[in-house]
Amino acid sequence: PYDVLVVGGGPAGASSAIYSARKGIRTGIVAERFGGQVLDTMTIENFISVKSTEGPKFAASLEEHVKDYDIDIMNLQRAKDLRKNDEGMFELELDNGGVLKSKTVILSTGARWRETGVPGEEEFKNKGVAFCPHCDGPLFEGKDVAVIGGGNSGVEAAIDLAGIVQNVTVLEFADTLKADDVLQERLHSLPNVEVKTGAQTTEITGDENVNGITYIDRASGEEQHVDLEGVFVQIGLVPNTEWLSTDVETNKIGEIITDKHGSTSIPGLFAAGDVTDSPHNQIIISMGDGANAALGAFDYLIRN
Ligand code: FAD
Repeated sequence: PYDVLVVGGGPAGASSAIYSARKGIRTGIVAERFGGQVLDTMTIENFISVKSTEGPKFAASLEEHVKDYDIDIMNLQRAKDLRKNDEGMFELELDNGGVLKSKTVILSTGARWRETGVPGEEEFKNKGVAFCPHCDGPLFEGKDVAVIGGGNSGVEAAIDLAGIVQNVTVLEFADTLKADDVLQERLHSLPNVEVKTGAQTTEITGDENVNGITYIDRASGEEQHVDLEGVFVQIGLVPNTEWLSTDVETNKIGEIITDKHGSTSIPGLFAAGDVTDSPHNQIIISMGDGANAALGAFDYLIRN
């Protein structure tokens, strides 16, 4: 069996695997798609010490670094269940029917942005349609953008973007914004933000790149169009935890709850990165989380 088995090959998983292997313990990593969300990213400018790089290049160097260690890499393998057997050993079942055993497991299966599904969203990804204001906000400096979603993440995104772009239009489907009052107050104090509630986005338009957004004003039933160059979709994140049938403790949106050591509610089971309830989802944070969980798992192993 493995000492540490990492599930997920994004920044958190890569970091967990390297930190584990550096302890000289038997380490394996299973990934459906090595690199994770980074593979879908164009420019990365906030991974400190690397001024600017591209997602696929960053993912390739993640893999290269992991390969530098004695780590069993099982890429293109999807985990379908995790259980603990009678001897207290974890058993990870794969889609291909294989079962891997390990004394500890680090879950780092990440998350995905919830999408609207409207026409244009898929087509213009990385061509004006963005999901991460911390990442892509500066690419829209001086331009007009929309934020879809008036919950906390949407309103925070709008406040953040208002300091960079020319104008922000916030589109919320419901009749009122759902964000905390203090955020709404801050939002309404900004001169370059316009809020449209009761607005159902129907299409993101463009030619080469995004050139506008169409929505229906639900009160009047009229279709409206706004010319702009960027659309940030902020309607939530979905953690990749559906496959887990264990009763590991999660919050109400399915994110795994961890403590400061990366431990979950199940002894020997750790989690790191976007799959956890940590508040900010970024590469640098996921990597730190992965290192932390690996050190937590090592501590657990020497005590048990
Ligand atoms: P992920 O990167 O999501 O990796 C999850 C891994 O788990 C993948 O290998 C996946 O294949 C695997 N997996 C999932 N389910 C299973 C399963 N059942 N079995 C086996 N494997 C599984 N952050 C920044 O810091 N800077 C940026 O500029 C930036 N830009 C971004 C742009 C885009 C378009 C997106 C989508 C995200 C961006 N982010 C950026 C966020 C950043 O990519 C994430 O915070 C980070 O990748 C999270 O790392 P992770 O390892 O926790 O999860």
